[in-house]
Amino acid sequence: MPALKPQTLGELKQHVSHLPDVRAEMRKNLIRKLENKEHLFPDIIGYDETVLPALVNAILCGHNIILLGERGQGKSRIIRSMIDFLDDEIPAVAGCPVNDNPFHPICVECKQRLAEMGDALPIYFIPKDRRLIEKLATSDVCTADLIGEVDPIKIARGRTLDDEAAIHFGLVPRAHRGIFAVNELPDLAEKIQVAFFNVMEENDFQIKGFPVRLPLDILVIATANPEDYTSRGRIITPLKDRFDVQIRTHYPQEKKHEIEIMEQEVRSLNVDGLETHVPEFIKEILAEITFQARSSADINQHSGVSCRVSIRSYESITGSALRRCLELGENKVVPRITDIESTFPAIAGKLELEYEVPDKKEADIVENLAKRAIKVVFDEHFKLEDLTAVVESFENGIKAEISQDLPSEAYMEGFQVIPGIKDAVRTLVNPEDAPEASAAIEFILEGLHLSNKLNREIIKDRIVYK
Ligand SMILES: [Zn+2]
Repeated sequence: MPALKPQTLGELKQHVSHLPDVRAEMRKNLIRKLENKEHLFPDIIGYDETVLPALVNAILCGHNIILLGERGQGKSRIIRSMIDFLDDEIPAVAGCPVNDNPFHPICVECKQRLAEMGDALPIYFIPKDRRLIEKLATSDVCTADLIGEVDPIKIARGRTLDDEAAIHFGLVPRAHRGIFAVNELPDLAEKIQVAFFNVMEENDFQIKGFPVRLPLDILVIATANPEDYTSRGRIITPLKDRFDVQIRTHYPQEKKHEIEIMEQEVRSLNVDGLETHVPEFIKEILAEITFQARSSADINQHSGVSCRVSIRSYESITGSALRRCLELGENKVVPRITDIESTFPAIAGKLELEYEVPDKKEADIVENLAKRAIKVVFDEHFKLEDLTAVVESFENGIKAEISQDLPSEAYMEGFQVIPGIKDAVRTLVNPEDAPEASAAIEFILEGLHLSNKLNREIIKDRIVYK
């Protein structure tokens, strides 16, 4: 469109003779992006070989999509990324609640205005982010919300009940010429599913018994937990049939993807004058805790273990390190193994256990996930034979005492008395950087303990390895 945007249908006609439907528009933009070799879903991680090719195909085919997956698999993010395939803005009849196409309006009022005004029909431009309408399905969503209702104000102004112009449109008609997204589709009441199906399939629906016919142009994308979607009775069959393609989402298959998601989503805790550094092995441990939870028999895998578990743990552990840093007057925030405990409340709140357990047992389950995670990551970084010198020094009577609140500099003494530990630290971080080195020392000691090479005793808030 030119800099001076058309204000009327007549002016619009000088540029275009018709407007594509939403499917054609998305397909056109997708093809352009493919030809320009653009990154199609820049914010979506870990789906390059699975979900994204299926999505591309669905957009090319103009298919209505159902995304099946457990919680925290980025389904909402996928939905929002669909906006990228819409034009930046499209012309519509000014003031129309259903974004009418000025060439072919569908609502009674716009049809009338077009007949009366012709090329003088005023138009305006809708930006693309207003063309995605999202609704979280809950059991109390009603037909009025979704489809529409008779507007008492319009009736009071003299419209009659059987007059289409008396209708206040719901969310679905308002998504006309755009995308309508329903989250957790199976939670819609059956009656509402029937109404929704009629709108999708027949383009007609009833409001208070009065039939309305609107040929809506909408791409529908819905999400559901696979268990709920396939269990009989939760979704009416005809509605299921209206989804052309079913795409199964999943959790990251690799730890590096889980870490990328953490880094993308985490809320920054930056404080002026303080540098924050989360060592790679700490990120790996947090991601591994989530991976362990996803294969734990104690945890309900039907509802799943969201990536938000990793994201919130990352924030909690950084917060714990920040608190220490402020209390000790240090200038670098580096989380350590002793900070992992601070993630337990964030983790526990996001896991659904398979059975009722007392709080104490729940805490034990989370703690065991963390221990297993530390051991897994430790084994990925070290072979025990490379740490023989470290283990021997403990066999010869050395003790190491650490605590969450011990200043980083205090760890540096360890380099003098424990032979070999500095070399091991160097494989993880810069050993001259005290906050990073203390995190690495804690990791090595705890890893050796979990490998049954060191004993560990907890005395009040201190941990003694020997
Ligand atoms: Zn209209």
